[in-house]
Amino acid sequence: MTQTDGPLPERLARAIALAGPMPVSQFMAAANAHYYATRDPLGAAGDFVTAPEISQMFGELVGLWCADAWDRAGRPDAAWVELGPGRGTLAADARRAMASAGFAPPVHLVEFSPVLRAAQAERVPDAAWHDVIDTLPDDRPLLVVANEFFDALPIRQLVRRTGGWHERLVACQDTLFLPIAGKPIPDAALPDTLRDAPPGAVLEVSPAAVAAMRALAGRIARQGGAVLVVDYGHEGPALGETLQAVRGHAAANPFEAPGAHDLSAHVDFATLVAAAQAAGAVAWGPVAQRDLLGSLGIDARTAALARRHPGRSDALLADRHRLMDDMGTLFRALAITAPGWPAPAGFGA
Ligand code: SAH
Repeated sequence: MTQTDGPLPERLARAIALAGPMPVSQFMAAANAHYYATRDPLGAAGDFVTAPEISQMFGELVGLWCADAWDRAGRPDAAWVELGPGRGTLAADARRAMASAGFAPPVHLVEFSPVLRAAQAERVPDAAWHDVIDTLPDDRPLLVVANEFFDALPIRQLVRRTGGWHERLVACQDTLFLPIAGKPIPDAALPDTLRDAPPGAVLEVSPAAVAAMRALAGRIARQGGAVLVVDYGHEGPALGETLQAVRGHAAANPFEAPGAHDLSAHVDFATLVAAAQAAGAVAWGPVAQRDLLGSLGIDARTAALARRHPGRSDALLADRHRLMDDMGTLFRALAITAPGWPAPAGFGA
């Protein structure tokens, strides 16, 4: 097979010519693996901006959440983990805040992009890197953070047509990729409430997100620890197409130019909660990002930084506004804890 040679669109076109149209999940996995492996997409000059890149306050408050969970659990010998750490900005900010609270755990980063691993190594040089969750330490509690990680995991799309549901596949004509309806899916495979959806309805599911949450929650249930997931999404499963492509801060067609822009989809928090519970862990929330940051003290932190850097107070207020008002309700936080671990801060406890 020569499918590993040449630019990604040509490789995908060859794979489709040989094996037929591929599920959206396979297309998205290949596109994102290539996208992240070949660039640092974050920041004003990149394709998109995330909360830790907006303000150091985000990573600091997340770090304080971790230190607090560790403290409430009796200060065990724990490791700190981040999934999909981007540039390593959150890890560096969280670490500083955790150290100020007396928590200085070893850092483990789960990251598949060599370019982003190099960026992370500049900010967290002593970290240990992992390709997958499975190789994380299995002999101690884990404090885990995942900001905008789950939205990048591949989704399947199911499309309703008259008479039934079909998996959406990606076909290729010449050099053009386009979504088509594949084989019918038995109604029994779908939740009762969705069986009679109108023609044209789209349902997205992410087996990869469920598998990642099951692996993580299973570890937490066995080893102790807590997980904080922050992402944009809904408390689904909900009908609607949310797969989106972003390049240079603008929306693009997700089926065009695979590997050239970031593909992401809304996270279905209800399904993640069910996966965590099925693996034996306790789920908290989700709550709005705004409520989490509010209860972790973003106002006091903004004021303290403004006192220390008076020239930056307008910028600090603008950053606070972006985290609390622009992103504050679309983004949600979900916490997972080991059975017997205390309630985490910011989730009504
Ligand atoms: N958490 C960072 C970056 C978010 S972008 C921030 O908030 O700024 C998504 C991150 O997840 C990137 O670091 C990307 O390389 C990583 N990633 C995406 N899919 C992955 C996968 N399947 N395995 C490991 N890392 C992945």
